Amino acid sequence: MSDTPRDTILVINAGSSSIKFYLYDIGGEQDLTPRLGGQIEGIGTLRPRLRVRDAAGQPLVERDIAPGHASDVPNAQEVVGTWLSGHLGGAPLAVGHRVVHGGPDLSEPVLVDDEILAQLEAYAPLAPLHQPNNLAPIRVIRERRPAIAQVACFDTAFHRSHSDVADRYAVPEKLYREGVRRYGFHGLSYEYIAQRLRQVLPDIATGRVIAAHLGSGVSACAMHHGKSVDSTMGFTALEGLPMGTRPGRLDAGVVLWMMEQGMSHDEIEHMLYYDCGMKGLSGISNDMRELLASEAPSARMALQYFAWRVAEGMIGLACAMNGVDAIVFTAGVGENSAEIRQAISAHWGWLGIRLDPERNARHGPRISSDDSPIGVYVVRTNEELIIAQHTLALLRQR
Ligand code: ADP
Repeated sequence: MSDTPRDTILVINAGSSSIKFYLYDIGGEQDLTPRLGGQIEGIGTLRPRLRVRDAAGQPLVERDIAPGHASDVPNAQEVVGTWLSGHLGGAPLAVGHRVVHGGPDLSEPVLVDDEILAQLEAYAPLAPLHQPNNLAPIRVIRERRPAIAQVACFDTAFHRSHSDVADRYAVPEKLYREGVRRYGFHGLSYEYIAQRLRQVLPDIATGRVIAAHLGSGVSACAMHHGKSVDSTMGFTALEGLPMGTRPGRLDAGVVLWMMEQGMSHDEIEHMLYYDCGMKGLSGISNDMRELLASEAPSARMALQYFAWRVAEGMIGLACAMNGVDAIVFTAGVGENSAEIRQAISAHWGWLGIRLDPERNARHGPRISSDDSPIGVYVVRTNEELIIAQHTLALLRQR
């Protein structure tokens, strides 16, 4: 325990089988100083586990939890709350949450009240696998600790700057009005990248940037003057580039075909979210490290598919800006795999883009060669920090 409990901001990112949490002390050079990060994994399984590390990465806790205490997200949130209040000797000043969907209107983080919570619940059909889990901890904290301010930060918000045309599919207006729009996701990651570019590469930050978030989920974003103008993801986080277990681009006719084969909605949903992408294509794994280490022809083929379609989808975003000045890779694969960055960039040789092998092996920041007409960079993302910053800013506005 260090300073007083009321000097902290808690960030929560709740998924279907895990809750990740990060604690920041308010103050210090950067305004927010990371104190610890943890997660409960295996929610709803027989062996849920709590792991917490301090800011230097040293383990603070690592233990099994009784399955009945983490049978679902609300339950697991109680475990996080109890552990934190024991550790801090009190509650955080505010909690910032990652919420996948802010719908067509919410373009900024918001302080959560009953009205906002009801609005966010109404967006659950737009993200049925994520939104209910994201909102569960908000509800638990509102019930148990109503005095704590809570802020919802949306993966869609950064993309609300898209033009009317970028926001559309070629479907009847009625569907658009009902919400069939190209919302775009990973917005918190891109917002951080835009901020980081302003700090470390200001010349590029004002230009035309294509950023690619290559993690378990994969997307790319066209940013002009630090604002999103297009994204490869659309109505759901299924569209666009190939991912760990999601296919990315897919002829909508395939879904019709699956229905004709007698697959139920839930079976199709499971197939598209959990059994496709690198996992489906390789038949081996969704983990890029395993595929890179494998000699199997299907692993090679999956990696070739990934590099080709990611390269194609990324460079296609240049049309939204009539060109591109810089390319940025981020997230698990984008930050750590020189081999995949090289494989993707090889598809841009016709543009004169060349990576410098040594810079690429060092993971940047600049990985392109000096004579490459378009600079290619690696920038580490930090979605939690963006959430903590927004939460603190909204608190200060209050
Ligand atoms: P998320 O937060 O969306 O779960 P991450 O951004 O952590 O995802 O990225 C996870 C992906 O990053 C996994 O496919 C993993 O294999 C990949 N990854 C992590 N480190 C490396 C590495 N050194 N080389 C290749 N892939 C990596």
